[in-house]
Amino acid sequence: MASSPHLIEVALPLPLRQTFTYASDAPVAPGHRVVVPVRNKRVVGICVGPSDGVALAEVTPKGVLAIPDAEPALPADLLATCRWIADYHVVSLGLVCRAALPVALGQAGTPAPRGRTERVLVLEGTLPTLQSREAAFRRAPQQRQAYELLESLGGRASVPHLLRQLGCTSAVVDGLVRKGFARIESATVFRDPFAAREGERARPAVAALRPTSAQQAAIDAIVAGEPGAAFLLHGITGSGKTLVYLEVLEQVVRVEGRSAIVLVPEIALTPQTVERFRARFGDLVAVLHSGLSDGERLDAWRALRRGEKRIAVGARSAIFAPLPDLGAIIVDEEHEASYKQAEAPRYHAREVALIHAREAGARCVLGSATPSLESWRNAQEGRLSLLSLPARVGGGALPAVRVVDLRQELKVSLPDERARRQVLSAPLEAAIRDHVARGEQVILLLNRRGYAPFVQCAEGHVAVCPHCSISLTYHRTPERLVCHYCQHQEAAGRTCADCGGAMERQRGLGTQQVERLLAERFPTARIARMDADTTSGKWAHAEILERVGRGEVDVLLGTQMIAKGLDFASVTLVGVIDADVGLHLPDFRASERIFQLLSQVAGRAGRGPKGGEVVIQTRTPGHHAVRHAATHDFLRFAAEELSNRESPPYPPTLRLANLIVSGLDEVLVATFAGAVARWCVAAEARFALGVTVLGPAPCPVDRIKTRWRWHVILKSEKVAPLTRLLRGLADGLEVPAAGGLRLAIDRDPVALL
Ligand code: ADP
Ligand code: ZN
Repeated sequence: MASSPHLIEVALPLPLRQTFTYASDAPVAPGHRVVVPVRNKRVVGICVGPSDGVALAEVTPKGVLAIPDAEPALPADLLATCRWIADYHVVSLGLVCRAALPVALGQAGTPAPRGRTERVLVLEGTLPTLQSREAAFRRAPQQRQAYELLESLGGRASVPHLLRQLGCTSAVVDGLVRKGFARIESATVFRDPFAAREGERARPAVAALRPTSAQQAAIDAIVAGEPGAAFLLHGITGSGKTLVYLEVLEQVVRVEGRSAIVLVPEIALTPQTVERFRARFGDLVAVLHSGLSDGERLDAWRALRRGEKRIAVGARSAIFAPLPDLGAIIVDEEHEASYKQAEAPRYHAREVALIHAREAGARCVLGSATPSLESWRNAQEGRLSLLSLPARVGGGALPAVRVVDLRQELKVSLPDERARRQVLSAPLEAAIRDHVARGEQVILLLNRRGYAPFVQCAEGHVAVCPHCSISLTYHRTPERLVCHYCQHQEAAGRTCADCGGAMERQRGLGTQQVERLLAERFPTARIARMDADTTSGKWAHAEILERVGRGEVDVLLGTQMIAKGLDFASVTLVGVIDADVGLHLPDFRASERIFQLLSQVAGRAGRGPKGGEVVIQTRTPGHHAVRHAATHDFLRFAAEELSNRESPPYPPTLRLANLIVSGLDEVLVATFAGAVARWCVAAEARFALGVTVLGPAPCPVDRIKTRWRWHVILKSEKVAPLTRLLRGLADGLEVPAAGGLRLAIDRDPVALL
């Protein structure tokens, strides 16, 4: 019967941009998975359409080995979106399709097994104060360490994980159990906390809320939106954006009978937000979180594909949820950098959401108190409809912010050397004491992300590139200051050009040190620390936050992960220990990121009837990110920052692509980076695309995991010429097969580190 086989084009998960022709006896619709032979291996590819056979020339095409599913794995709208990503980011369509599908569907065999069980140590009893701890562990410092680690992990951690972190023997754990401070349980490794806590989750209040008139206006506008309409919901912290999302979903899912995707920056960091969706829509919701096993993820994917679950809630990759008849896509905290994927395909989920909504005929809502400047510009120019929630629900005020100038504050009382190491100013220390004494809760932020070293004098001046208005990066060997945008270099001078004071390399102050200091100053306060070290357990975040919610923590100290989405009425004080960390990263988005961080963390204070206040410690109180965050003034910040990005121009004034060359040998990396830059310059000279080529230069973080890194930056006012140049580069310049060389194209980078 199969007289003439059907020729199809197949996208394969290989780093090659072309598709491959195969022959199939049965017709295959686009989006179907097909198992095909590739060099004697069985590989899963995606049929992207019929083939004209032109690429074959004389060769006979190989046959498709199997068509495993009855239905296409990628619905037509999703396949179109994948195609857009592949074209825009100049990456193989097969790799994009693979990233869009659950891992289990990328394998020719059967799905991976479910979770396994392991021994888990669970905290029992409490030792809330420093004094009680000292009494309990007087002669057992290792037990104390284990106890405190377990506590900071949320009171529950796998035994092997604990032992590995502490480098101690199981005798320490046995000691804790003997003293009654912990017990051992056996638990499934991949547990789904959203499934496990079904019972205790009821939040009846949510369903009963009536939207305010500002919320209702936003809801009405979104619901009335045309297919593909896109909105920017700019609502200050505590203005009730979540209720807007919930009401829009109510309409889309329950009234229109369609489906929806909700993106959040990180599931583990936003348990409260996720919970509100679950509480309202219950079984209609699939929460796609990183704790799912491959098998569980596949189950969730199938339920969505069949329309049994109609709301997908998840981080970045949930944008690929295969929902039929999509009616809405919501991107909460749209400014978050975690929406950008760090490896190929380097898509930005916000941008994919806009494209996918258009393909699927859904409305798209981007929400934030501190929108990205890209979205803000899009709203100003009419590509997004702007909706505003300018006030907190219930008439609550935003908290008053006090900016403490560390240069003044510490100089009066302390000699220079001590002042530099001082962590808490008198006003912040007094405020913590007051609020804790009143039985209220305190959040303290220490943003530690400053990994590119810079130099600063005691007055707060920072060495800046004369050509780029970007902080110079300190390099140790040879000792010099480098601008990684234009390669300007200068000696690491010992004195400040502005005030003549000594320039010092900035050293990071850690959350652990600060925690110790807090414990000394406030021996009776119950302190919890939340950072990358205390949250390595999958659900550690949620557990720490639950303890805060139950009032078992007086002071929550953490990195930027505590700044997001938390809604606790009894947090009345927020303190920022050092607003300057990260402000001087050699990155054009540094100010924007610090403004967002300060505004977001300040927004955690005063959400309840008791009101709240914020204390920000800084050495640069005049910086526009600090000034406008202190007055909660996004509009002024955006205006000032946008004008800064006009000259010299940076996004959103123009488009950037970062070409990153990496490899094991520094000389090979530098040489190939030179070849990349020369190729781009030659292409520009030949085709007059209007693309500016900067570099090559070492990346600010010039070595990661033994790989040296250099980069070339492309700037372009227009999208299409940049796309053309990048495609030409990807297809035309061969990466030498030496020293593990790689060329990565990062279009619209969120950071240039
Ligand atoms: P945002 O995300 O904008 O910072 P949330 O969505 O977390 O704000 O809402 C802040 C608080 O206000 C939440 O506790 C929420 O339950 C409450 N809230 C929201 N809308 C209303 C409303 N219409 N009436 C009463 N309370 C509301
Ligand atoms: Zn420069």
